[in-house]
Amino acid sequence: MALKLTDQRDIDFVLYEQFQVDAFLTSDKYKAFNKKMFDMVVKEAKNLAVKEIFPTYTECDKVGVSFENGMVKVPECLRKPHKLLVEGEWGALTESPDYGGQGLPFTIAQAAMEYLTGANYILTTYPILSHGAGKMIDLFGTREQKDLFLEKLYTGVWGGTMLLTEPGAGSDVGALTTSAKKLDDGTWEITGSKIFITNGEQNLTDNIIHPVLARIEGAPAGTKGISLFIVPKIWVNADGTLGEPNDVICTGVEEKMGLHGSPTCSLSLGSKGKCRGFLLGSPNRGMEIMFHMMNEVRLEVGTQAFASANLAYMHALDYAKQRLQGRSIEKLADHGAGQVPIIRHPDVKRMLLKMKSYVEGMRSLIYYIAFCFDKKEMAADKKEAMHYSNLVEILTPVVKAYSSEKGFDVCVEAMQVFGGYGYTREYPVEQTVRDCKIASIYEGSNGIQAMDFLGRKVAGNKGLMLTELINEIKSTIRIAESNENLAQLAITLESALILFETTCKNTSNAMFSKHMASAFACAHPLLEASGDIIMAWMLLWRATIADKKLDTKESAFYQGKIKAAQFFIMTIIPAAMGKLTAITYENNPAASMEEHLF
Ligand SMILES: Cc1cc2nc3c(=O)[nH]c(=O)nc-3n(C[C@H](O)[C@H](O)[C@H](O)COP(=O)(O)OP(=O)(O)OC[C@H]3O[C@@H](n4cnc5c(N)ncnc54)[C@H](O)[C@@H]3O)c2cc1C
Repeated sequence: MALKLTDQRDIDFVLYEQFQVDAFLTSDKYKAFNKKMFDMVVKEAKNLAVKEIFPTYTECDKVGVSFENGMVKVPECLRKPHKLLVEGEWGALTESPDYGGQGLPFTIAQAAMEYLTGANYILTTYPILSHGAGKMIDLFGTREQKDLFLEKLYTGVWGGTMLLTEPGAGSDVGALTTSAKKLDDGTWEITGSKIFITNGEQNLTDNIIHPVLARIEGAPAGTKGISLFIVPKIWVNADGTLGEPNDVICTGVEEKMGLHGSPTCSLSLGSKGKCRGFLLGSPNRGMEIMFHMMNEVRLEVGTQAFASANLAYMHALDYAKQRLQGRSIEKLADHGAGQVPIIRHPDVKRMLLKMKSYVEGMRSLIYYIAFCFDKKEMAADKKEAMHYSNLVEILTPVVKAYSSEKGFDVCVEAMQVFGGYGYTREYPVEQTVRDCKIASIYEGSNGIQAMDFLGRKVAGNKGLMLTELINEIKSTIRIAESNENLAQLAITLESALILFETTCKNTSNAMFSKHMASAFACAHPLLEASGDIIMAWMLLWRATIADKKLDTKESAFYQGKIKAAQFFIMTIIPAAMGKLTAITYENNPAASMEEHLF
């Protein structure tokens, strides 16, 4: 049996049964499309992923990148699929056709990206970063800047990056020292050093556009004084032709645990005093602008971790069906009984069902955010648009942090299903573990995500975002509780939701008291428990749909949805309630732990 890259049926379930994306076709925005066109895009993505991208996943890991005399070479196997991604304009699915896009809904683009990212997420870092850089220019650039850069970035013809991190400025971006000085011709001279820059130098594209955070001389300290500059690797003339190489030098490439096909570069800007850039937007608004790219990339990072987890789960499921080992539990005493596939053992079923429920819950959550983006775009009025925007805001740190941690756990669990073979390079699950780990560290470490969740999202706007999220969860609970098969699950989730709401409110109140440090010491456990509740919500939502279809010819598929919800709500939610109860937002020992006591 050939390995399935992902679960096409479950993607269709999420698109058309859970989020009913075909209803978008009645809106003015998408009236030029039909369902056949949506399906065609996903099918094309699948073909590209299976035939051209997936075969490069292990090879690019083995070959890795090389660095010599300031030049970086990426694994050659990436060249053809990268070219196909660019030619097919896969990076710009949701963008305007004026700039190389196709104007599709985000939810459909997410399905296509699940295939492409799942096949080799190291490859898709290239177009994703190009798109993110393009989006900022689209939102904040001048007409000239858009004309120069937008189409090339959206389509991935040119590479894109994001230059925030410096040796002394990682999580604390405001500590950066890269500086900018205005030149007579209106461009800016940039001087500084950046580290850990994904795809900062590579030989796949003719040019690379670096969005760089820097401080204009004399600007205030901290994040308030940061501006954003567009710094091309090769200067782009006013007529769009390429000019001289800019003074951007790659000084090194990291040796790292995973992501071997993606160079993580140190870049020196202006070591010869000749690095030039364009200011994007107004001076000192750099962080605000960069947040547009950061939020987009945070969702992508959640998708990367989900894609690794999904791939690891697909491998584990495939292996568990084939690997013969041990007798069935019913025939333990029968020494003549033959070996059975390990999928028959209750402990292996437990691991697989756990993986299935996390993977399917994460899929729904990630598509839900895309769905909220679409609903915001199609909103009838400002109030409705704000509602969906609030949901995106509060769920973004959850997708980034929860998916990266649970995605990693799923990869580790998949390795366990493989036994000793999982730990060897003969099978690809160990690569998923190595590649997935970075997701909890980069793009704002999960500790920073947790602080954002508590400080800005739960406590922000007088708790409005939290209330709107809780109301959405309650509406699914109301549907489930009227259904005999799901009523108990609804009751359990509702108890957890009540505890969640109280804990969120108590922790955010503590933030404004003398217990502020205790509250922040609980930010990560709170985010993790929130992720559990949100996952349970997604799985219960799926179960309410599946429960109506148990008598159809796809009964087994729908029963699988009910089992996933049962497993999660019966085994993970009680533990989540324990986590919530353990949140010590006052007098937390971690907050009062003095350095010298360690
Ligand atoms: C493979 C890879 C690719 C990367 N790609 C890019 C890129 O393309 N562009 C880019 O700009 N950067 C990139 N980075 C950098 C990455 O975003 C940073 O490593 C990350 O933001 C953390 O910064 P740091 O490494 O300096 O760790 P630190 O900031 O020193 O953090 C160390 C630990 O302390 C915690 N911590 C720090 N400050 C606080 C605080 N105030 N409150 C609570 N906890 C705190 C963190 O959560 C973390 O656990 C990449 C890194 C890697 C490894």
